[in-house]
Amino acid sequence: MKKIEKQQRFVSQHLELFRCPVCHEPFTALQGNSIICSRGHQIDFNKHGYLHFLNGAADTEYGREMFLARRQLLSAGLFLPIVQAIAKILPKRPLKVLDVGTGEGTPLYQLAKIRSDQNDCLMGFDISKAGVTLATQLAMDAFFCVADLRQLPFNDHSFDAVIELFSPSDYAEFNRVLTPSGILVKVIPNADYLGELRQLLYDQDDQHASYDNSRVKELFAKHYPNCQIQRVRYRFDIPTGLQAALVEMTPLHWGRGAKQLSPAELDKLQAVTVDVSLLIANKF
Ligand SMILES: [Zn+2]
Repeated sequence: MKKIEKQQRFVSQHLELFRCPVCHEPFTALQGNSIICSRGHQIDFNKHGYLHFLNGAADTEYGREMFLARRQLLSAGLFLPIVQAIAKILPKRPLKVLDVGTGEGTPLYQLAKIRSDQNDCLMGFDISKAGVTLATQLAMDAFFCVADLRQLPFNDHSFDAVIELFSPSDYAEFNRVLTPSGILVKVIPNADYLGELRQLLYDQDDQHASYDNSRVKELFAKHYPNCQIQRVRYRFDIPTGLQAALVEMTPLHWGRGAKQLSPAELDKLQAVTVDVSLLIANKF
C-alpha cells in the first residue's frame, strides 16, 4: 500500500480524533485527498502522504540533515532505554498514544515494537516538515502530521497517553486532548545529559556548559501536584563514525558559540552519558 493510502486509511478509521485548527469543529468527512470540517474548511494530504495542519510555513531551524543524523543515532539505540522506560510506565492495554514533537519518528517506532502486542493507535506530530516527511517513511502502522503544539488538531479527550521527548509543552492543550484518566510522560535532560559532548563544545564557564532543569520540573509540578519523577541514566557507546552525527543532532538551543571540533577531537568521544528525568502525571 502506498504511504498516502496508508495514512488516508488511518484517518478514515480515526476521523473522530481530528478537529479543525481553524474553527475547532470536528472533521466530518474524508473526500478524495482532503479532510473537511463541518464548516467546510479543508486540509489536503500533501505529496509525501501526510496532513499539514499549520497555516503558513513552520518556524523551525531543524532541517533534514539534523533529522537524518538523529535517526542514525536513535536507530543505534541512543534513546532506546528511555523508550523502554516509557513503555513500562504505560498501561498494558490498547492505547491511543500521541507523541509530541515526534521529529523523525524513531522513538515512536521503537515504542510500537515494544508494545506490538497491545494493538495501540499511535500518532506523532511535529512542527517540522523535514521531520514528519522522514517519520512517514517508517515501516510502521502510525499516523504522522505537521501541527502546532499550541493548537492541536485533535478533539477533546482523544488520547490515553501523551508522550514527549525533549520537546516544549503546552499543558492546557495536553489536558484538553487527554482522556479523563490519561497519562502524560515528559522526558527532560538532567545536568549530565551528553555531558562529555558539552565539555568538548563549550568552555567550562560558558552558560551552555551545563543544564539546569529545575524550572521545567517546578512548572510541571505546579500543573500536576501528584506527579512522579523517574530518573534514567546510562552510558551509550557511540558507534564508530557517528561522532559527527551526534554533534549534528544536538539541539540548537544549546546555543551559539559552540566550538568547531576537529576530526581528532571528535574521535576522542567514544561514549556519552544519557541522563534524563521522566516526569509522569495522571491528569487527575
Ligand atoms: Zn473548520
